[in-house]
Amino acid sequence: MDVTDVKPPQKLGLVLADFSACQFCYIVDKDQERSRVGYKCPVCKYPSPAGRSHFNISTYSLINLTQEAFHSKSGLYEDREGSRTDAHNISVLLFFCALREVVLNHFVSKLCVAQGKSLEEHDKLLKNNKSYDRKRKKLLPSLVGCKWNELVGKVNNLVEFDCLELNDFLKNVSDKRNLFVHVGPGNLIDRALAEECIRHISPLLYFYVTLHNEYVHPYYFSQGQKP
Ligand SMILES: [Zn+2]
Repeated sequence: MDVTDVKPPQKLGLVLADFSACQFCYIVDKDQERSRVGYKCPVCKYPSPAGRSHFNISTYSLINLTQEAFHSKSGLYEDREGSRTDAHNISVLLFFCALREVVLNHFVSKLCVAQGKSLEEHDKLLKNNKSYDRKRKKLLPSLVGCKWNELVGKVNNLVEFDCLELNDFLKNVSDKRNLFVHVGPGNLIDRALAEECIRHISPLLYFYVTLHNEYVHPYYFSQGQKP
């Protein structure tokens, strides 16, 4: 399946983010049988009481918005210097950058709950680490005991896609977003980059699912607790 061919009304969020979580050991995968009541989790063997989607509504919404922007008719935008950019390509990049932040926040929240942090502690951690980069470089390493680049290397050994390339792409879109915010679109955000954003949604989701299964699932699996 080519993800760039998935067009509305089919929702790309439902196609790419259809991960389910076991309600006992909290392993996350694309096993659709988990939604069947009584289905035994292959990992912890507990029978499923019902299905539970892993990702939140913000994740689904942002993927759908990215898709809608990508498939919208061209809307040319001209800045004062005369550079012409398709505004929808800019939307795709901005939605993708927001998605990148939402899935990081989602993982951090799940990790805090798994580690038994109170709501107050969780709120304080988020308040002290507001920016995406601070969450990625300071907060996350403090929670998992591992620097960001080490995490990327670790996930890279567990997945079938190139996680180092994904990390480089995340840096690239972040740089382009910052240039857009502070300087303007110029010719930086073209159709090829928008297409790359669409193609990187799935690896981005798998990256955080892998982190979840490495750092959140073991708390529940070892303690036999409900999430
Ligand atoms: Zn399970």
